[in-house]
Amino acid sequence: MTGHKTPRVINVDVNFTLPSHLNYGTFILERISNLNEKVAFINGATDEKISFGEVAQQVVNVSSSLTKLGIKQGDVVALCSENRPEFLISAIAALCSGAVITFINSSYNKDELVHTMGISKPTYIFMSPNTFKSFHEVIKESRPGCKFFVFGDADKRVATSYDELSRSHVNRLSFQPVDFKGRVETALILYSSGTTGPPKGAKLTHSGLIIAGMQPTCTKRQLNSLSIAPWSNTVGYINTIRETIRGQTCIYLNKFNEATYLRAVEKHKAGLLMAVPPLIVMLAKSSILNKYDVSSVELMYCGGAPLDWSVIMEIKQRFPNLKHVLQGYGMTETPGVLTEEHEGMTQNGSVGRVAPGNIVKVVDIETRQILGPNEQGEVCVKGPVLFEGYIGKDMSEYLDEDGYYKTGDVAYYDDEGFFFITDRLKELIKYKAWQVAPSELEALILQHPKVKDVGVIGKPDQLAGELPTAFVVKKSEDLTEKEIIDFVAFKVSPWKHLRGGVRFIDEVPKNGSGKILRRMLRDLLKENPRSK
Ligand code: AMP
Repeated sequence: MTGHKTPRVINVDVNFTLPSHLNYGTFILERISNLNEKVAFINGATDEKISFGEVAQQVVNVSSSLTKLGIKQGDVVALCSENRPEFLISAIAALCSGAVITFINSSYNKDELVHTMGISKPTYIFMSPNTFKSFHEVIKESRPGCKFFVFGDADKRVATSYDELSRSHVNRLSFQPVDFKGRVETALILYSSGTTGPPKGAKLTHSGLIIAGMQPTCTKRQLNSLSIAPWSNTVGYINTIRETIRGQTCIYLNKFNEATYLRAVEKHKAGLLMAVPPLIVMLAKSSILNKYDVSSVELMYCGGAPLDWSVIMEIKQRFPNLKHVLQGYGMTETPGVLTEEHEGMTQNGSVGRVAPGNIVKVVDIETRQILGPNEQGEVCVKGPVLFEGYIGKDMSEYLDEDGYYKTGDVAYYDDEGFFFITDRLKELIKYKAWQVAPSELEALILQHPKVKDVGVIGKPDQLAGELPTAFVVKKSEDLTEKEIIDFVAFKVSPWKHLRGGVRFIDEVPKNGSGKILRRMLRDLLKENPRSK
């Protein structure tokens, strides 16, 4: 590659003053308080709507009820529900009451739920009727004393209904949320495997999230946005809350169905589609798209995983008024975005420029020297947006000696500061932009009595990005691929299933200290794309 090679650190300052209360919940409430009748959320399947005024009022009512119930600074409040306005309202309300919030994915199975709740240790949990039905017993057992709030009606003997919390009308002017004094108060715990190991609890701070909330989004224009990502997941939450903070109407769906999605675009005149790469691939190939009026769509915003340039060219042929497919790059540990393209600031195949609140350097993978433009290396980041650390983990493994978080992503930036992601060093697999931690699947597969050893990697796939694939050493000769696939499918969420299949090998390649040599497994996969 050519270009100037002066090494540099890219530091994009935040150009606003943090509010003195330093409460992320209060910040969101202040941003939406004057929007009154403007529609905040639309359920794209049922067309139900709720205004910003109603959202703000419910936040105040619920927060006041939570404080009366004794929820205070430092208590952990979990939310486990499909997307619905009460999810975000309760999250903001709990933050205003001083609590730390955490999101538990509603598609988790019981073991995953117990594992994540064991990390964050919530003492209160908000649930939808569906998640309550599925998980009430297991939570009662694994987190004795945890109090339940259920959206809609609830059996008073076991839970408090959300309606009861939100019923008492509290005057917004007299509402007094909790103020924080420090800058490193934890607001939100999200789960991420980071660069290695099983999922961990990443602590995101109030001040970091406020700055992330103020980062400019991909467009300054007011366009109805449509998203199908679950709000319990980093990409889904961050994209939606940034739009909400900007007073933008968000259309949401709980389950992806192509016809429902396209109907929602047409009916609610979605102008901005929030997407992950597989959705864009699917829309590009849709056989029913032509039956719907999608002329309202002007922008697509894509993140969470790499998007192929050819897909961008393809999708532009299908949406008559689509001007740009803009990309953003970030991770749970840097809530908001690390780099992002904006309308009027784009570059083919790029994930945009560094967003405010981040200090970024690209370093040589071997020497750790800071690199200049057009040189590929590992992206490292620090700054006020960066998370505070993983719960209970020593951070020295994840930070370099200057305090930068080593992202495990390989990229370069061009002379104009546009970033291009080229590879991933970390162990993470991304199936349809969902995180799959190889070590989590390895630990699980090793529990199978007929398995001696295992290594898991992602198999490249055009639609899904990567498919979790296991290389297994048999303990018992009669072990079959199906037995392992079924064993995994029974124990973990759908996106972690072994869709890439199982390859049987004689030995898992490892280095001297026992670390799996995943590059060698990738080479094996190229040689043997089919199962033995
Ligand atoms: P998560 O914490 O689940 O959001 O995953 C973050 C990781 O997803 C990043 O470290 C990257 O490896 C990958 N990722 C996110 N956005 C992009 C993007 N636009 N292009 C390529 N990889 C991405």
